[in-house]
Amino acid sequence: MSFSFRPGLEQVAAYTPGKPAPVGADGLSAKLSSNENPNDPLPSVIDAIVKTFPTSVNRYPNMATPELSEALAARLGVDAQSLVFGSGSVEVASQLIHALAGPGDEVMYAWRSFEAYPILVRAAGAVPLEVPLDAELRHDLDAMADAITERTKLVFVCTPNNPTGATVTTNELDRFMQRVPKHVLVVIDEAYVHFDVDPKSPTGLDFFARYENVAVLHTFSKAYGLAGLRVGYAIARPDVAEALRKVALPFGVTDLAQSAAVASLAAEAELQVRIDTIVEERDRVYAALKSAGLPVFPSQANFVWLEAGESTEAVNEVFRARGVSVRAFAGSGLRISIGSAIENDAVIEVAGLAAAAHM
Ligand code: PMP
Repeated sequence: MSFSFRPGLEQVAAYTPGKPAPVGADGLSAKLSSNENPNDPLPSVIDAIVKTFPTSVNRYPNMATPELSEALAARLGVDAQSLVFGSGSVEVASQLIHALAGPGDEVMYAWRSFEAYPILVRAAGAVPLEVPLDAELRHDLDAMADAITERTKLVFVCTPNNPTGATVTTNELDRFMQRVPKHVLVVIDEAYVHFDVDPKSPTGLDFFARYENVAVLHTFSKAYGLAGLRVGYAIARPDVAEALRKVALPFGVTDLAQSAAVASLAAEAELQVRIDTIVEERDRVYAALKSAGLPVFPSQANFVWLEAGESTEAVNEVFRARGVSVRAFAGSGLRISIGSAIENDAVIEVAGLAAAAHM
């Protein structure tokens, strides 16, 4: 027997996660393929998880996320009702698409950007509208504004952009917002915003305050280091937030994840020290690859992009042989997450070898 799956699904390739690291010739195994945080959870976060654990397993989680909503609303200066949580911000991105775009509707984003966008858009039966990044691998917001049609319901602006690390500027985003029709929702995906130290970069919250048609996506997976617990959220106006709650899967955020997120908010000063280190390490890796003559791009995220073109697979093999797993995009380039100092040293060394052999 064969089923007739929904039209368009044949164009969808299932999301492929970053690969675990093979053990290299000298015993190194560095997973730098998923933009994860290299640090173990803080002791206070582990305590919060352990305290929640015994009582939270046989019961469904509290869907109202009361403590998390309250702590985060206070932290961000927004109404708790504006916050909608999901099993990672990827689930909230999916909620946004399902709430706004049906069959035939367009969802726009720059390309290349977050790999899940086209999957989520097609899975919703909507049409992906991909606008190429410019030569510096930055969003071409003028071209994006030009490409909006009557069917466009949603635009994702990923800044810093995954996988290139480039940001849009406040001025560019303002100019873009002036051109976007009010019925098109612009989602500023700030998964990597905590690593962005460029003063010219926008703040999603400011744009949310200034434009009715803006929503912001945040995650606890990256700077907060809770990728395995799955918690992300949108900041959205009441009508959008209500629509997101309608399409959300019930019980998407476990009590363990909620308490870890609350404990992380209470430990922001400690986490900031770690973020600062990741930013320093990113700048160190970038500078080293750049001075070795490699085609690396400036990044405000916790990864750097190496434009390797046709050499991508060969370069990836050199990394694998050394026990370093990075994210290779065939024919295009490699996204290398920032890890521990030792892992980053290995990246610098391997990139040099790969460049000598293949680039
Ligand atoms: N947005 C962007 C741009 C990302 O790169 C990612 C993760 N790779 C996400 C959203 C989703 O992260 P999570 O679901 O872990 O919150």
